[in-house]
Amino acid sequence: MLTKLAVGPYDTNCYLLTCPISGESIIVDPAAEAGRILQEVEGTTVKHILLTHAHLDHVGALAEVRETTGAPLGIHPADARHFGVEADFNLADGDVLEWGDCQLRVVHTPGHTPGSVCLILDGRVLVGDTIFPGGPGHSASPEAFEQILAALQKGVFTWPDETELYPGHGAATTVGQERPAFEAFLRKPRPDELCGDVTWE
Ligand SMILES: [Zn+2]
Ligand SMILES: [Zn+2]
Repeated sequence: MLTKLAVGPYDTNCYLLTCPISGESIIVDPAAEAGRILQEVEGTTVKHILLTHAHLDHVGALAEVRETTGAPLGIHPADARHFGVEADFNLADGDVLEWGDCQLRVVHTPGHTPGSVCLILDGRVLVGDTIFPGGPGHSASPEAFEQILAALQKGVFTWPDETELYPGHGAATTVGQERPAFEAFLRKPRPDELCGDVTWE
């Protein structure tokens, strides 16, 4: 079961993944409003806290949620290093996490941050700030932008069109909805120094 809570001043999406059979849950990106998040997972056993990446607008309630639940924190080591986050375990490309009857798989999709990851459930993917409807997440340099493009080509756009993408802010989309604009973008010439808040248009 996937629940989305939009929290904090940047309307960051915190996702709660609950296994209805075992009553175990995972909190992804406890961005703000710890009270609301904790209320939502009440009655479940929080197995893990995961970060899609360690930007400030995704970790505002991390300390409180971690302290209250005592659940171990998982993050990609590149973001742990880059942002100075002390994690309890690493999220590495290809890792599979299980809770109750459910499982998810980690895909490393660097670019928005060095340790950004996507978390794949069955046909649904939490993509963090790697891709939004209409474009990729913010890239801080042309190199970072090329990294995101490569990650999207090797990852997101190899998935079936019906795959649902749940971003770190705003509404969900699907691979099929994003594919035509992405492929058109790849066919067009683009400036070498392109980065920042890029859209496919
Ligand atoms: Zn971000
Ligand atoms: Zn964000």
